[in-house]
Amino acid sequence: MKPDHISSPPLAPHAVSLLRTRRIARSTKPFMARGGVRGERCTGCRLRPSHCLCSQRPTQATQAGVCLLLADTEPLKPSNTGWLVADVVADTFAFGWARTEVDADLLALLADPEWQPYIVFPGEYVSAERVLHSLDAPKQESDGVAQKRPLFVLLDATWSEARKMFRKSPYLDRFPVLSLQPERLSRYRLRRSTRSDHFCTAEVAAMCLELSGDLRAAQTLEAYLDLFTHYYLQAKQQLPANMDSPACQAWRNARTHLPAS
Ligand SMILES: [Zn+2]
Repeated sequence: MKPDHISSPPLAPHAVSLLRTRRIARSTKPFMARGGVRGERCTGCRLRPSHCLCSQRPTQATQAGVCLLLADTEPLKPSNTGWLVADVVADTFAFGWARTEVDADLLALLADPEWQPYIVFPGEYVSAERVLHSLDAPKQESDGVAQKRPLFVLLDATWSEARKMFRKSPYLDRFPVLSLQPERLSRYRLRRSTRSDHFCTAEVAAMCLELSGDLRAAQTLEAYLDLFTHYYLQAKQQLPANMDSPACQAWRNARTHLPAS
């Protein structure tokens, strides 16, 4: 890991970063995150320059893609974890959600024959025939027809916003709903000792990547989320990152098991 005081060269902005830039341009007043880090931030990772993580960004090619639909202010929040999904999963798409309009690029993506969209949402809110708990096993390619890649559509929002987004997006109605099962959620919680009842977007994405067989990306995303959280909290307290912390150790372990890229 690099020393804390060296800033990394800027990386190409990813989908969530571009969405954030567009959202800021539309703002009439600056967004003040409650309890967040004040002052200058790196545009690549949103952390203080002294805690910049850009040199660690672990982008990977995956079988699955992720399509994030972000509630209005979500791209502005420095702790938004959809950003971390875009750091890891090369094929991450991000769109701002609005009740009255839908982005034509989103509709084109959902209709793209390369992808099979799955709306990730609790199954109890939809009719049973629409609900899946796992992905269909890949079929043998026949007649030269390529297997569609899974596209996980995640609603990146507070829970009440997510329910509204789900109800008021008729263009999502034709797709299956991938409902993560309670056993899977509790296994995940045990493994990660997650204390909250609410999973963040990066955690949900990691569970989805496990289902699509993108295990390495799933593990990377989990370790990267912990690393980011450690740096974020240390920066908030104006402390340097602790390289001996469990998050930094786990990150080094994860990196040594990654292929060279
Ligand atoms: Zn940075």
